[in-house]
Amino acid sequence: MNNRYKILVVEDEKNIRSFVKTILNANEYQVILSDSCQNGIMMFTSYIPDLVILDLGLPDKDGIEFIRYVRTSSATPIIVLSARSTEEDKVSALDAGANDYITKPFGTAELVARIRAALRSYRVTENAILPDGKFTLFDLCIDYNKRIVTVAGNEIKLTQTEYNIMSYLSQNTDKVLTYATIIKEIWGYDDVGSIKKLQVNMANIRKKLGSKPGETNYIINELGVGYRMRDKTNI
Ligand code: CA
Repeated sequence: MNNRYKILVVEDEKNIRSFVKTILNANEYQVILSDSCQNGIMMFTSYIPDLVILDLGLPDKDGIEFIRYVRTSSATPIIVLSARSTEEDKVSALDAGANDYITKPFGTAELVARIRAALRSYRVTENAILPDGKFTLFDLCIDYNKRIVTVAGNEIKLTQTEYNIMSYLSQNTDKVLTYATIIKEIWGYDDVGSIKKLQVNMANIRKKLGSKPGETNYIINELGVGYRMRDKTNI
């Protein structure tokens, strides 16, 4: 059986499309190509890829539409590969549900590293520890299949990034995860301001989960080092 990952590339520029295909083939990924948003959606539905590399400036519709469509039914990782480089462009793509954002021109090694990171974090989520695909700790519950977090049965509205952090921490309980480790897992790369970005996300997560007395805190802040999610067997 062929178990290589299938990657769908949605890109209208022929040169970039074939360049990306060459890189992916060299790294032993299976590649499916598409040159428009509408056709990309069709390919996504028919071939069920493991990951999508998506351009935003497509001839028929904006790539954001693709992300929105896919996110109504699937958590498949989407890496945006776009010439648009403003913070606003990145934020809107990530908020729509993209997992990562790479600006053109891009480095081959960087693209491959980010694909690996995205596939790894998705795979971990798929192979959830519990048979029902749920993680529980005190009154906290993470449903990996639905990508939903609840506290005492009430859904906590998290952004994609916040959810990804919670998911990652919960699959590495009772282990200190350094800032760099978490940053690499969630964003796939490390740059100036990453720690600040992580801390802001963590502060938001804590706020949304509600403050708890020390004994039942879900996540422990290892000052200056990173974070650790408690293990219910070792409180
Ligand atoms: Ca384009």
